[in-house]
Amino acid sequence: MSTAQIPLIFERGQAGRSQSRLPVSGAPGAEIPPALARRCAPRLPQLSEVEVARHYSALERRAFGVNNGFYPLGSCTMKYNPRLNEDVAALPGFTQVHPLQPAHTVQGCLAALRQAETMLCDITGMDAMTFQPAAGAHGEWTGLLLIKAYHRARGNSARTKMLVPDSAHGTNPASAAMAGYTVVNIPSNAQGGVDLDALRAAAGPDTAGLMLTNPNTLGLFDPNIQEITDIVHSAGGLCYYDGANLNAIMGVARPGDMGFDVVHLNLHKTFSTPHGGGGPGSGPTGLKNFLRPYLPGPIPVEGPDGLAWQPAGAESIGRVKGFYGNFLVVVKALAYLYTLGREGVPQAAAHAVLNANYLMRRIAHLFPPAYDAPCMHEFVCTLAQLKKEHGVSAMDVAKAMIDAGMHPPTMYFPLIVHEALMFEPTETETRETLDEVADALAHIHAQALADPNALRAAPRTTPIGRPDDVAAARAPRVRYPRPESEARP
Ligand SMILES: *Cc1c(COP(=O)(O)O)cnc(C)c1O
Repeated sequence: MSTAQIPLIFERGQAGRSQSRLPVSGAPGAEIPPALARRCAPRLPQLSEVEVARHYSALERRAFGVNNGFYPLGSCTMKYNPRLNEDVAALPGFTQVHPLQPAHTVQGCLAALRQAETMLCDITGMDAMTFQPAAGAHGEWTGLLLIKAYHRARGNSARTKMLVPDSAHGTNPASAAMAGYTVVNIPSNAQGGVDLDALRAAAGPDTAGLMLTNPNTLGLFDPNIQEITDIVHSAGGLCYYDGANLNAIMGVARPGDMGFDVVHLNLHKTFSTPHGGGGPGSGPTGLKNFLRPYLPGPIPVEGPDGLAWQPAGAESIGRVKGFYGNFLVVVKALAYLYTLGREGVPQAAAHAVLNANYLMRRIAHLFPPAYDAPCMHEFVCTLAQLKKEHGVSAMDVAKAMIDAGMHPPTMYFPLIVHEALMFEPTETETRETLDEVADALAHIHAQALADPNALRAAPRTTPIGRPDDVAAARAPRVRYPRPESEARP
């Protein structure tokens, strides 16, 4: 990768060098009130067509995605998504439809939603699912509104607290707060699971529910899961399962069987839509039968003349998004499920778990796992000792990985692990790739001992190496500063 800065497209332009010359129009001009009319022409860069093409190709080469190399972003399942599923979702029968079309003209689309619901309910152990939520956090919030509606329908207004373990994804406490709950933090035990005594002490008549992901964000499956959901149920609360990342257990273990009442999935992680990049997502919320009255609507149902839209019931929490959610993302998930089939879904999960354990064991002598137990889809190592003894941090190692042609893993998360690096190789990496990664990490470790300063200067192969993370997030400069000479009159 070149380390030279790419000038902004505004800095490249030359006056008079545009690519399109429109013919003079014979139509009368529009009358625009002077107060609304521009006083000067918009300042657009003027470039030739090939300059524009080269500019964007150069930017594209600076991006690093799953097509470029190893991409181990844990807790996110930034995995490779088969192209076939994009082709299926691009079929005109799915794209050339309007949400207000009469149901009898879009029977295939309704059937796709029904089939996806059946399969994903089968995978999660739920009885019904709404595809309206557009993202994981949106699905969480929807699920919490279902829980709230349930307690309200039983005349129970004292249940104001949501229990959330300290290893939870950050969206869990945020969604609970958005849904009007007070968040109660439950600490982890020494094995990285939920501390049962702390849970028992916290659960009571003010408990609305528990939000949990299992395997948790440490990549560990909680062996006490049945007891955890029992404790919450005995206290009268409901159990919410964060299924954003289902990569370890899909087709193998079902949240419904673990005692969960509500689940959300991120189709844009596990089920073949890329996560990140700002594209549309889908965070369907699944629920057990007793919560059905509160479902957002309308929902597709079998009618006398085929599939039809059934409006939401009187007790529904109402719509959480326009129409039926991001439908084409659901189509991609359905294509993925059909191509994998009943055998392929658990096999993909098994490979994801095997790959994570393989890589964890290959590097454990250099980068020890935070919890020394078999992991699920991801594992977290701690570099606290390396930092203490050699002054090389998790950040330094992550930056060195960029120079080695790999995307850095998730860093400093979850917060309960010091100097954390979290790896999620996913099911599609080969053993050869994992061996290359382990060798590259061993090389970085050797460098950390031999020449820590060199590592602290990484990356050397990128135009920008160590931006001020906090300033970049809190005060981003995303606007081109117009030179004074070009200021508006
Ligand atoms: C990604 C993720 C979420 C949030 O999903 P978004 O679509 O980003 O809102 C929630 N929980 C877990 C465990 C996740 O990995």
